Amino acid sequence: MIKLHQKSYIAGEWVTPDGTEFLSINPATREVLETYHSCGSLETNAAMAAAQAAFAEYRQCDKDQIADFLNTVADEIEALGDQLLETADAETGLGLVRLTGERGRTCGQIRAFAAIVAEGHWVQASIDTAQPDRTPLPKPDLRRMMIPVGPVVVFGASNFPFAFGSVGGDTASALAAGNPVVVKGHPSHPLTNELFVHAMDRAINHRGMPSGLFSLLQGSTNELGGDLVRHDQTRAVGFTGSLGGGRALMDIAAARPRPIPVYAEMGSINPVFIAEDAMATRGDEIAAGLVASVTMGTGQFCTSPGVVVTTPNEGFNQWVARGLSEAPRGLLLNEKIGEELRSSLRAVAGRDDVEWLNPVEESVEDTLAPPNCALRTSAAAFVADPALQQEIFGPVTLIVECDDTVEMKRVAGALDGNLTATVHATAQDADQAAALIEHLDEAVGRVIYNGFPTGVEVCPSQQHGGPYPASSASATTSVGADAMVRFARFVAYQDLPDALLPPALQNANPYGLLRRVNGIYSDASI
Ligand code: NAP
Repeated sequence: MIKLHQKSYIAGEWVTPDGTEFLSINPATREVLETYHSCGSLETNAAMAAAQAAFAEYRQCDKDQIADFLNTVADEIEALGDQLLETADAETGLGLVRLTGERGRTCGQIRAFAAIVAEGHWVQASIDTAQPDRTPLPKPDLRRMMIPVGPVVVFGASNFPFAFGSVGGDTASALAAGNPVVVKGHPSHPLTNELFVHAMDRAINHRGMPSGLFSLLQGSTNELGGDLVRHDQTRAVGFTGSLGGGRALMDIAAARPRPIPVYAEMGSINPVFIAEDAMATRGDEIAAGLVASVTMGTGQFCTSPGVVVTTPNEGFNQWVARGLSEAPRGLLLNEKIGEELRSSLRAVAGRDDVEWLNPVEESVEDTLAPPNCALRTSAAAFVADPALQQEIFGPVTLIVECDDTVEMKRVAGALDGNLTATVHATAQDADQAAALIEHLDEAVGRVIYNGFPTGVEVCPSQQHGGPYPASSASATTSVGADAMVRFARFVAYQDLPDALLPPALQNANPYGLLRRVNGIYSDASI
């Protein structure tokens, strides 16, 4: 068992900051597990300076060294064993089954990045050789590839303590692309953060990596996150969390004297459209699947289906309302999420144009065990008021009733940016499905057919990120192979002698990469 000390970690040293106190709390029992203190500007400056120093050294590592390091990180996370699962369960209440699966996904993603680094193609090498005799002007030799950006600051989310945690996909993709990382630990699970640091510390030492490659600053203040984003040495930010938090950090980054990119993955309402024949022939089945998806993880998924769009069908509404009422109540991650859910629900359900289909009287004690809620509104109300498109983070879904298929299309056209949209349809609904998808792929990152949005497959063809407000940069993904390119940038080298070029661009092609050479893809040497 690793003994935890309620500390932060800067470049290989455990530190005890003296900032604002915050608590690790078990949401199931409300027991205080430990007391932590927030880092401040002293720790921010130390971590960023160490990251900058480590960057120079880390850039000298070849691709196999980085891949070996990442594989060791995954091994060390697994070596934390049951202590990691039990600690995270105590801090989040997510349960051992879910957390075991999330650990597998996290280590799988880290190892996938290692394989991509070892393979090397991700740098997108492109070579146009010189044409000294070209008239009227000679053509220079130009060679372009991706290189790391420099120190990356990462913010994890409360609802994915592993996959989007301290050493989750954002941290792993930034390291894989060749950058040092400074993590702002999520205050909802500081003990879990500390355990991840142990795994990272062992991997860094085992593989002889520079100590400043990774730091983790624990804290519960917006100031800490803001200072990290403002810091002159920070080159990019990876964020997973709420729209409010992501937007605040985007604004800070844009206001810097030297603005930097913030790759923020934020909330989403993930609309589910049900076409006419699908509703008529299997509305009950869709209702059951919807209830399971809405209640999964107590609705605390960025891909939770928060909106259902269909023509009116009382039977369907009742199946959904009854199913949600009968489903066991889950547990919320923390008091802040509980408070936000209560106030959002109160605001939406209190509107004249919204009906709560399965209302319950709530007592104060129930804040972390919320009811599973079905709400109903009209398409006209939904289209008229953007407030109805705001994410309610929890087990809540809003059924938007449309007069006809034309109005369903109008709703699809009025959607804000989302991570996903789903269409349930049969062969009879082909025209309606095509008309909906035409609108939906403009508004979302992933279009799903006859499924449900919860459950994000981790593979190279995954797109996890959609137009704002789902993400800050919809051209990128935070899951899958291409997540790495968020933390890299293109550089072109003009007329450099072969020996001064990075290996990926040298004539001999020592890594055997697939390169675009004079416009044609080839793995041959030049
Ligand atoms: P959160 O409250 O935004 O917290 C995320 C991190 O940002 C925390 O470290 C938080 O720490 C910091 N933060 C929040 N507001 C800040 C501000 N104004 N200035 C500086 N730092 C700030 O989000 P959460 O509760 O952890 O996560 C739930 C949300 O994440 C949901 O909306 C969910 O949909 C979304 N999510 C999205 C994805 C995705 O892939 N798109 C995945 C998972 C979750 P402090 O509070 O200490 O500042």
